[in-house]
Amino acid sequence: MKFFLNGSWQDRDEVLEVTNPYDGSVIDTVPKASSDDVNTAIAAAVEGAKVMEALTGYERFLILRKTADLMRERQEELAQVLSSEEGKAIAEGRMEIDRSAQTIELSGEEAKRLSGEVLPLDGGKDVRNKLGFTLRVPCGVVAAVTPFNFPLNLVCHKVGPALAAGNAVVLKPASDTPLISLKLVEILLEAGMPPLALSCITGSGRTVGQGICSDPRVRKISFTGSKEVGELICSVAGIKKVTMELGSNCPMIVLPDADMDLVAQQTVASGFANAGQVCISAQRLLVVDSVHDDFMSAVLPKVEGLIAGNQLDEGSNIGPMVRESDAVRVESWIQEAGAAGASIVAGGQRSGAIVQPALVDGVTSDMRISREELFGPAVGVQRVKDVDEAIRLANDSEFGLSAGIFTQDIDAAVRFAREVQSGNIHINWGPMWRTDCMPYGGLKDSGLGREGPKYAVEEMTEMKSVVIHSK
Ligand code: NDP
Repeated sequence: MKFFLNGSWQDRDEVLEVTNPYDGSVIDTVPKASSDDVNTAIAAAVEGAKVMEALTGYERFLILRKTADLMRERQEELAQVLSSEEGKAIAEGRMEIDRSAQTIELSGEEAKRLSGEVLPLDGGKDVRNKLGFTLRVPCGVVAAVTPFNFPLNLVCHKVGPALAAGNAVVLKPASDTPLISLKLVEILLEAGMPPLALSCITGSGRTVGQGICSDPRVRKISFTGSKEVGELICSVAGIKKVTMELGSNCPMIVLPDADMDLVAQQTVASGFANAGQVCISAQRLLVVDSVHDDFMSAVLPKVEGLIAGNQLDEGSNIGPMVRESDAVRVESWIQEAGAAGASIVAGGQRSGAIVQPALVDGVTSDMRISREELFGPAVGVQRVKDVDEAIRLANDSEFGLSAGIFTQDIDAAVRFAREVQSGNIHINWGPMWRTDCMPYGGLKDSGLGREGPKYAVEEMTEMKSVVIHSK
């Protein structure tokens, strides 16, 4: 495919190959953008921002609603592209298209709701005859830098609110999964988005991503990806607004009064979706000693029942990881835990980019599988004495994105909600739950700011205070 820059589809001599991680076959190529292309994209966005600001909120709503309609009409075609380049099971690919359309639709709704507030200025000493209110105005140029793992929905969580708020966007999708972003651009244009409102340029993070993020004409960066790249971006950003949606190693606590069938079902849903490549995957299962064996008996057959294979086969629950090198890393972390005394009760074997879903019992907090972000199809089980130890271990992480607890004890659940340092808290559900309208984001090294169209629009607009001084 070509990329979309400065209002037109363009080729370059140098290209990146986009491969299917299941068999390594080349699906397509995309142009490799240069530093000049970055400069052109930002200059175009400066002009595009003027065009966008001149549209009414209702006009922006109509374009985004039409975009969502077109995405739904093309669900199957888009799902095939997405699953082929990313590797997720086709059923998950279809689900992502459906969610992405909803994200765009919700964003469109927010275009109609940009408002300010009347300020109680006479609450200030000796203030009379003043009328004050706030106005929300677009940021201007928004940079969107996105990861591979939800290559459409996470793009929609940036592009949708940015356009709804009247900004222009420069989008740099992950190099493993650029095709679905370019398809989104085609649809936005068909729905009537002004061509200068959005450039989507493909190429390496280091040149293209960093070039965009360090440019002073960009006022707002919305980034989703690893903590390491998030830190790099913050170090070059300068004076800009930033939203950082970074990694995690989410805990899930199981107390003695948990509904064990639900726990087993949620362990699988939360731990293995998208081959574990989800920022809110359940990674660290903290299970109270007295129910450990019940937990293992309930969950083991479910993990063993998962079928890993070609993501486009309807029978596969789990596809390949996005890159074989990541599968090699995950396999080695599992083996490392085994060598350090944990038992690999199921899975862990690798063939190419496919890792068999793994259940690793008896992990300890100092193992890499517990400390770092695994981002792969394995969960580690650690016995704990009681809720106190569970909460202490849940917080024993640099990350804080999502956490779950299973219990019928309301006091324990409320303590968990108050004491666990995590941006998202789930009671009687796994950590991997999100609906696209809710505020979503992390504490600690999991990031800054919130997504969800209503909240992202706030972060992608700026506030002016207006005061009328009457006699
Ligand atoms: P990366 O951080 O490797 O890459 C994310 C994006 O940043 C890609 O587009 C990449 O480009 C680009 N990039 C790389 N280097 C730079 C740079 N120096 N400057 C600017 N941009 C750069 O993440 P992955 O794609 O591997 O995604 C996985 C990560 O994303 C995990 O850590 C996961 O937890 C996190 N994530 C967080 C979510 C959240 O909501 N908190 C949701 C989903 C994922 P290129 O591909 O060309 O390298």
